[in-house]
Amino acid sequence: MRIHLLPALNPDGFEISVVGDCDGVKGRYNKNGFDLNRNFPDPFEENRVQRQPEAQAVMDWIQSEPFVLSATFHGGAVVANYPYDSRKPDMFPNATYSMAPDDDILRHISTVYSASHANMFTGQHCGSTFPGGITNGAEWYAVKGGLQDYNYAWGRCLDITLELTCCKYPQADKLPQLWDENKAALLAFMRQIHLGIKGRVLDENSNPIDNAQIQVEGRENIVPFTSTQNGEYYRFLVPGNHRIKVSAIGYEPQVRNVLLQSIGENYTAVVVDWTLKKKPCKPDFTHHNHTALGEFLTCVSLKYPGLTHLYTVGKSTQGRDLWVMAIGRNSTEHEIGRPEFKYVGNIHGNEVVGRELLIHLVFHLVASYGNDPDLTLYLQRTRVHIMVSMNPDGNQISEEGDEMGLKGRYNANGVDLNRNFPDGLNKAHSPVIQNETQAVMNWLQDNPFVLSGSLHGGALVVNYPYDNLPASECQNEWNCKKQQDVITTDRDGAHPASELCNTLFLPEFQDIPYENLTAEEQYSGSPDDDIFRHISLVYARNHPKMQQPGACPGSTFPDGITNGADWYTLEGGMQDYSYVWGQCLEVTLELSCVKYPNTSDLEQYWRDNKQSLLEYMKLTHLGVKGRVMSSNGQPISGASVHVAGRTNLKAYNTSQEGEYFRLLVAGIYQIEASAPGYFPVSNTVTIENTARDPYSAQTLDFILTPSTCFDGYIYHNFSALQRFLECIHLNYPGITHLYSIGPSAQGKDLWVLAISGKDSSQHTVGIPEVKYIGNMHGNEAVGREILLHFILHLVTSYGKNPELTLFMDNTRIHVLPSMNPDGFEMSSEGDCDGPAGRYNANGLDLNRNFPDAFDEREDERQSETRHVMKWVASIPFVLSANMHGGAVVAVYPYDSLTKEMTAEYNSSTANGEPYHHLTPDADVFNHLALAYSLNHPFMYTGQSECEYFQNGIVNGVEWYPLHGSMQDYNYIWAQCMEITVELTCCHYPPTNELQQHWLDNRKPLVQYLMQVHIGIKGRVFDTNGNPIRGASVHVKGRDNFLPYNTTADGEYYRLLLTGRYTILGPPDQHHFDDGARPSTSSVEGPARAPLRQAPPEHLFGGGARPNCSSLVAGPPEQLFGRLLEDSRWPLTNLSLCTFPPLPLTK
Ligand SMILES: [Zn+2]
Ligand SMILES: [Zn+2]
Repeated sequence: MRIHLLPALNPDGFEISVVGDCDGVKGRYNKNGFDLNRNFPDPFEENRVQRQPEAQAVMDWIQSEPFVLSATFHGGAVVANYPYDSRKPDMFPNATYSMAPDDDILRHISTVYSASHANMFTGQHCGSTFPGGITNGAEWYAVKGGLQDYNYAWGRCLDITLELTCCKYPQADKLPQLWDENKAALLAFMRQIHLGIKGRVLDENSNPIDNAQIQVEGRENIVPFTSTQNGEYYRFLVPGNHRIKVSAIGYEPQVRNVLLQSIGENYTAVVVDWTLKKKPCKPDFTHHNHTALGEFLTCVSLKYPGLTHLYTVGKSTQGRDLWVMAIGRNSTEHEIGRPEFKYVGNIHGNEVVGRELLIHLVFHLVASYGNDPDLTLYLQRTRVHIMVSMNPDGNQISEEGDEMGLKGRYNANGVDLNRNFPDGLNKAHSPVIQNETQAVMNWLQDNPFVLSGSLHGGALVVNYPYDNLPASECQNEWNCKKQQDVITTDRDGAHPASELCNTLFLPEFQDIPYENLTAEEQYSGSPDDDIFRHISLVYARNHPKMQQPGACPGSTFPDGITNGADWYTLEGGMQDYSYVWGQCLEVTLELSCVKYPNTSDLEQYWRDNKQSLLEYMKLTHLGVKGRVMSSNGQPISGASVHVAGRTNLKAYNTSQEGEYFRLLVAGIYQIEASAPGYFPVSNTVTIENTARDPYSAQTLDFILTPSTCFDGYIYHNFSALQRFLECIHLNYPGITHLYSIGPSAQGKDLWVLAISGKDSSQHTVGIPEVKYIGNMHGNEAVGREILLHFILHLVTSYGKNPELTLFMDNTRIHVLPSMNPDGFEMSSEGDCDGPAGRYNANGLDLNRNFPDAFDEREDERQSETRHVMKWVASIPFVLSANMHGGAVVAVYPYDSLTKEMTAEYNSSTANGEPYHHLTPDADVFNHLALAYSLNHPFMYTGQSECEYFQNGIVNGVEWYPLHGSMQDYNYIWAQCMEITVELTCCHYPPTNELQQHWLDNRKPLVQYLMQVHIGIKGRVFDTNGNPIRGASVHVKGRDNFLPYNTTADGEYYRLLLTGRYTILGPPDQHHFDDGARPSTSSVEGPARAPLRQAPPEHLFGGGARPNCSSLVAGPPEQLFGRLLEDSRWPLTNLSLCTFPPLPLTK
């Protein structure tokens, strides 16, 4: 027997405690104020307290020594207290006794102490009664996170708590008496260590078997009693007949009856040794060459048919089989809902640790099936594929003892297979694909792998994607040159020519010498970086050495993990390929400092990695899985399952069976499933920290209804755009109207789809008109596409979504997806900054081509411009937005300034002071811009990858002045409040980002248009009750450039925020004209129509149509309205009545 004495577990507390303090708590806790006897893992529920250094030290101590018996000393009572302290979950509510499986032994050792103590056995001390001087912990009072329960449950060490004195800190002169009272008990207790049985578990060659389980029938311990590395075990038992089973993975279990008569008198427990027979195929810790590997795999597949399936994915360059062992219930085929996992070893032929680990893993898994309940369940719910060697040719020539060499690293053609895959971040990487690589690529294609690990050697770290850095757009030098030549302007996201290539190179790192990058730039995170970090940490944390500083000489990785590029970059690696193209999250596991270690070290590598390898595999069930089905019950293959905020380089697509698997860490996610020919469906899913079922991801199925018009998240060329709009109109004829406002310069129709639940083909009195315009700059392509999805969203929501239906019933919405179809055809996907396609076919910027009220320019009005002017003159639009790209911000008028203001602007900006040019309706514009930015996931925060704007909004002039913009024109001449929305940093981002851009803008697009129902609307009538066209409705204090005039139906709409307003008729009698808006014929310039002699004074009324005759004519009157700032509608109609003028008094 070896005796360990730890006199003070809480020396800090002791230092501040006080002699003579019998009942206080001063000094009870550690320095951080924690009760250490509440600070351990609890056997029955998670103990969330912060682990203290004292507790951690004791835990490490307990795990490092095979302790058998223990006692912990306390004060404040006189009693021996035994496990459990914590209440078992299956106890009756009123029960208090929390019985351990070894209750008889625990009672026995407690009684030994109590009976050998001078007076503990009386059970009458300190005002309490404990029969026999002992008590079950919970029966006295329950404690969570106590040391004795931890010792017993996890340390396989029987521990009791000995309360020795009523007074916690008695005077020193009491100590001799206390020693006398306890001396005999202390010795008697220690002697009990020789109760029960002990012995060793050996194999047939007398080699120790570690981790063999020693189970005593009828005693279900939380953590089973197991043998140590030397094969030894100790099992406390009271006299009697016991049935004992000893089992170990890879061995045939054995059962024996043992009769224990009494306590061993010779200070030794009864010795019971065990010799277990190896199960067939159990591998030794030796290096297996290709032949030995084949023999092992064949043995396993013959011995475990059904559970295993041995197949080959192809042959190496020299013709060796690339074997894979599939393991799982029904190992020959994929089952729906059951994820596929893989490990690949030995891609570098001389990195052999992974190769041998995988051999032992194969055997461990098959031998555990049916024996280890946890792994059995796992293998029923998962199919595991293990490719022990991806590079058998290289392995054949590599040599034992090679620490850091290259011999055998490459395949037989001298190619590094981990540089031989296509690269998702650099499409220019085009190696000659080797047999081994091609075989793995096909394998990935054929199986819906979810999670993978590639085993290497030469370091001790988990390395996760990306290994490569993002590619530069200027990689293609020609493209860069072209952009340089063309750029002459400096606006709207374009950069001056001199800066262009620098700017393009800056955020893209492949072209910069790696050592010149900042640490942040060297880190090449993927959209699933959080998941990769999580799964990497699971491996590293379960490994005893990986997280230690300097785990291999000369290298330190914080937490034992690293981003690939952050360590060093490489192109064509397998993990990036697997992730980008295989939808399979893969990490690179560097498992040994030495590449080809000596045989004698192999067993230690297995010990170090076994738990990590198993825990990593279990992560296959993180996150969410499910199927995407058509509403007719058929699975939809190739559907994209997009997790909002994670734009993968290639969409996650469903399998032939419509299945998907998506690893996710705990959180709330919005997931959208979409497929051409179906309407996309979004769902929200909450992933819990602790899954209810550890071996099933959460299930989330999608049922999609056919929608002939939806053809996926793609860019639509002009004919596809026409087809899309026609399709919508054909399928939703009742609420849509498709019309062209005229041709582009090259004769392409400028198509508009109007949507309304009232009448989509013409204006309805009282129903405001709103519009969205996209793609005015032909290369700013996102607006064009998200407007198509917006159309689809509206029409398919009609009659289903009550809020949107109400909105459409009270609004007519016009969408012009492309105002510059000619430019679009000249632009190209992936061009983020270039101007190609920005202008119309005549090379003019359409957003500089409208009449300018402040500083008119001479440019020839373009076909596209003229048709938009005619359009806004013919329909009384109230609200509008114009979609652009190159920034993420909502821009509001004015864009333009007068010549005089330009000088002020220049001096202000030279001093670094902002210069605004605001409209009389600046408050409303601010609100409108915010309505967009606040509803966008990040526009408001300004956290885009491009220019920062406070609150995601900016005044046009403040950003940069320009002349002839469409939004200024709309506001000044069309009484239509228009803003310019910059949607994305990149003008023409790659297709795979479109779905995310739509999801980002779906809510703001709807919420913005709903703002058309703020403010007031109404009609102006004459005393005969006839509507007056062209009557001015003036909001006092808002002197618009041109008056707000009523429509042909006498209508007006005025967007206003909550407040009190004075609405006036014309301040003089000259504010009436016969055409309110630029008439259809006078589209050029500030067409202030000739004034008409009109006499009205005006009154007003509430409600629909006022009874004007009942009103008394009076002086110019005020109308007070309480307005709603939110988007409720319709508001009370406010109508103005006009009367003949009162006689003028002199
Ligand atoms: Zn390697
Ligand atoms: Zn633009």
